[in-house]
Amino acid sequence: MSATNRSGNQKIKLATVWLDGCSGCHMSVLDTDERILEVARRATVVWGPLVDAKEFPHDVDVTLVEGAVSSVEDLHRIRIVRERTRILVSLGDCAITGNVPAMRNKFGAYAVLQRAYLENATLDPKIPTDVIPELLPATRPVHELVPVDVFVPGCPPSADLIYSVLSDLLEGKAPQPAAKFG
Ligand code: SF4
Repeated sequence: MSATNRSGNQKIKLATVWLDGCSGCHMSVLDTDERILEVARRATVVWGPLVDAKEFPHDVDVTLVEGAVSSVEDLHRIRIVRERTRILVSLGDCAITGNVPAMRNKFGAYAVLQRAYLENATLDPKIPTDVIPELLPATRPVHELVPVDVFVPGCPPSADLIYSVLSDLLEGKAPQPAAKFG
């Protein structure tokens, strides 16, 4: 923890990560409205969709992860995030169960690419071999690949639940049992 707030208290380093999700969980974080100012008072956001940084930082206190692990790139990212994060939070049902992205699992990765880039393409149908990350054979929830400390369910989780969990974590307390499993 490096920065301090106006009261001289140390601010925690907070990150948010977006894997295979629709961004709805991040929108729900923003739905905390003016309460986000309280979060900003107690935490420095060091990584997320609105942070201009090239590399996931070291020594992050809390990371919220939206989305499932669907690609080789997702897997690489979540392993780095886990290594550099003290408390990893699966935020939302895609991160916790696979949810919507995992609906492709019964068809296989190639069927998804075929549908998107061959059957539905009207111009130059071709499955790209670069630009898009290589898909894993199946979409997996985050905790099946790296240890997760806190689970916050919902699609998306409510802003009230997110704020409750964040408040507890920022105060160094364990979140309420409803938001913590295993
Ligand atoms: S849990 Fe729901 S809101 Fe969150 S990323 Fe998945 S589909 Fe979107």
